[in-house]
Amino acid sequence: MEPALIAVDIDGVLNPYNMSRSRGQKLGYRPSKRLRQERMMRTFWNRTHGAELRRLSREYDAELVWATYWNGLANEYARLEVGLPELPVVELDLTTLTTDWKYPTMLAYAAGRPLVWFDDEHVDHGRGRDEFLAARTEPTALIDVPPVEGLGEPQIAAAERFLGLL
Ligand SMILES: [Mg+2]
Repeated sequence: MEPALIAVDIDGVLNPYNMSRSRGQKLGYRPSKRLRQERMMRTFWNRTHGAELRRLSREYDAELVWATYWNGLANEYARLEVGLPELPVVELDLTTLTTDWKYPTMLAYAAGRPLVWFDDEHVDHGRGRDEFLAARTEPTALIDVPPVEGLGEPQIAAAERFLGLL
């Protein structure tokens, strides 16, 4: 089988929602000065995420890819905040935000490969999720990330369990 893909969303995964400076400090997140200055965005990032994702990719011979509506901006900004190399981008059309979301694009992109997918919105698209899983013939783990906390140890552990069984 082809090497597994590890698809990574940004908002609600690497950049949690409703983060504050004090809560961020407790959880290991720092605000991005660059995104604030250049794009007027208030974002918080945790460098542990980059290290953990790189480790998963290395230990399980899996390929990290971006699956975020940030598209190319993920490589321009987000990767530097968490410490990741440039990654392939699953290009998402913004119009799918209100229709089938990321599912059809990901179905085509990940065809033939096992897939681990970290996202906070799998659950907001219930029917799409069921159809996606029914259409996939390869091992698939949709890993739900709590959007206010962001990617954490339980989700990384779930990914490891899945990748370890391939
Ligand atoms: Mg998200």
